[in-house]
Amino acid sequence: MNAYAEQVAALANSTNETVQALYLRFLAGEITEDMFVALATTALTVGDSKAAALADAGVVAALTVMTAEVVLPVGIPAPKPPPNLLRQIIVDALADEEPKRALETGARGRTLETAQHAYKSGLESHEVKFWTRAPNSGACPACQNLAGQVMPIDKEMWTHKGCSCTQKPANEHQKEKSSARNRDNAKRAAATRRANDAADPEQSAARRSAAARRAAATREQRERERRAGERT
Ligand SMILES: [Zn+2]
Repeated sequence: MNAYAEQVAALANSTNETVQALYLRFLAGEITEDMFVALATTALTVGDSKAAALADAGVVAALTVMTAEVVLPVGIPAPKPPPNLLRQIIVDALADEEPKRALETGARGRTLETAQHAYKSGLESHEVKFWTRAPNSGACPACQNLAGQVMPIDKEMWTHKGCSCTQKPANEHQKEKSSARNRDNAKRAAATRRANDAADPEQSAARRSAAARRAAATREQRERERRAGERT
């Protein structure tokens, strides 16, 4: 369980709840469409600055734990997106076939993304060199798989629409352990393959072509998901 990721997810939900409440008032005829768009845009802006503040505190807490020394916040500034960007998220969602759902995806996604960017800039401000992915409790299998690998700070964290994974600072020691683990795993896998091949050459040829087919199928599946992700 990753407390910070849960807090970010809760904040994203609260941004969505505000937008949904405004949407209901718009549907009920209490506010005009223009008013709805303006108010919902403000809700996203508020979500942005809360996400930056949360990320600032999250980086500080993680670094204090990692270094066993008190680390002070740097004051990560709230993002300043181009004037129309947040408004456009609301306008586009409203034009969607399912506005309620699209507003949820847009509102949650915006807060999550802002928190991810703010956290990264916090890590950079504190001159952290490595990071790992900390998935939240409901993370998808792809994200769960990537957890625990230690990456250099200039490597972007891969995310998908609605991804609520967060980064976590890591140190040199964790980096070495993770690299050693990867080497060990690769060695063990190679040794197992060699042992199997020696035991049964014919079987092993069949297995290799089956493995190649599976790898191709996985690649195709990923590509389809990527395209689907771009469409939504
Ligand atoms: Zn994720």
